[in-house]
Amino acid sequence: MTREKVRATPQPPATVEATAATRLAPPGDLATATGNINAWAEVDCDALADNVRAIRSTLTPVVDIIAVIKANAYGHGVIPVARVLEREGVERFGVASVSEARDLRAAGISVPIVVLDHVFPSDAELTIANDIECTVHSRALADAFSVAATALGRDAIVHIKVDTGLHRFGNSPADAVDLANYARSLPGVRVQGLWTHLANADEVDDAFTTEQLNRFRSVREQLDWVPYCHIANSAGTLRRPELHFNGVRPGLAIYGICPPNCPDPGLRPALSLKARLARVQRLEPGEGLSYGLTWRAARPSIVGLVPVGYGDGWRRALGNTGSVLVNGQRCPMVGRVCMDQFLVDLTDLPGSPVEGDEVVLLGSQGNERIDANEIAELTGTISWEVVAALLPRIPRIYHRGGIVEDLD
Ligand SMILES: *Cc1c(COP(=O)(O)O)cnc(C)c1O
Repeated sequence: MTREKVRATPQPPATVEATAATRLAPPGDLATATGNINAWAEVDCDALADNVRAIRSTLTPVVDIIAVIKANAYGHGVIPVARVLEREGVERFGVASVSEARDLRAAGISVPIVVLDHVFPSDAELTIANDIECTVHSRALADAFSVAATALGRDAIVHIKVDTGLHRFGNSPADAVDLANYARSLPGVRVQGLWTHLANADEVDDAFTTEQLNRFRSVREQLDWVPYCHIANSAGTLRRPELHFNGVRPGLAIYGICPPNCPDPGLRPALSLKARLARVQRLEPGEGLSYGLTWRAARPSIVGLVPVGYGDGWRRALGNTGSVLVNGQRCPMVGRVCMDQFLVDLTDLPGSPVEGDEVVLLGSQGNERIDANEIAELTGTISWEVVAALLPRIPRIYHRGGIVEDLD
């Protein structure tokens, strides 16, 4: 069977551009700015700043903070977050890739940046020209940096990563010593940093951290001319002062989430995820809802539609399992999570919820709170993934004390 396609009459171009900025009211107070959006993330810039201070309070004054802002600043929106952290005096940024570093420079971020993962020889010119420090893992890469640095008439600042047992990126202890000495001999190459990454820092038993530290120390003794050593992720920073060296590399803690098994220096989650009820409906007993009709009303029920789904990074595994906050009370998620929405059972809420009421998916409302660790446990993952999974479709609104500062 064939069907003629119905052709739409050409329309004149729309005059209103639906950018994040125009979807939102002009900056003002948070309530006004979010009055007419379906779902959004609020990032509390004061919390980010306080978290930097809380981490700082665990360090001696000579230790730098290398704030890890890879993966869109763990879902918090990298450019606005970098601006806040830059103002807070963070000494360096750590990112995973050259493209992440380049985006920060393009946005005018001037703090030193180190790329922690793989780079190609063809990245040498761009990274040197943009003052981006890279981790060098081979002689071929060191050669490329030397050639590009000489051509540009400036130094390439590089770090060497020792693989002390995570067996992810880096060089074995013996190769790291050899590579560092080779890179040092090349014109235009300045070996600034020596670092490693921990495998078990947040486990109940973190004994392997001691083994990694010992392997790192033996490399460091042979490379005592390298000025800047850094090892500790958030857990290493909070749990083991002997790992602080010249700089620490917290990621998760910057965003106010304390890793498991670590003393909490007073971190506050910076991100809240919120939405507005898109529909409130009554269901008769026996009626089902969402794909597969996996939940059925056992009584006359009131259900609310929440316009967030796995297409925003809100996991499908939360279907029939998670809960949200409405009117300061926990309400269970019912039925399957769809790409753009899911349903909640509002039957037991006192009062009458209506379309437009605020729903909290992550964060607090009244005396109740849902945090990333709770969502992680329900979905069989870790808090890192819960926040990093939040996709750009969700507008980010940056505020201080409820006054909007920035949008993303
Ligand atoms: C992601 C990452 C960090 C930060 O880890 P957290 O556990 O989030 O603090 C530090 N160093 C490296 C190499 C990383 O990849």
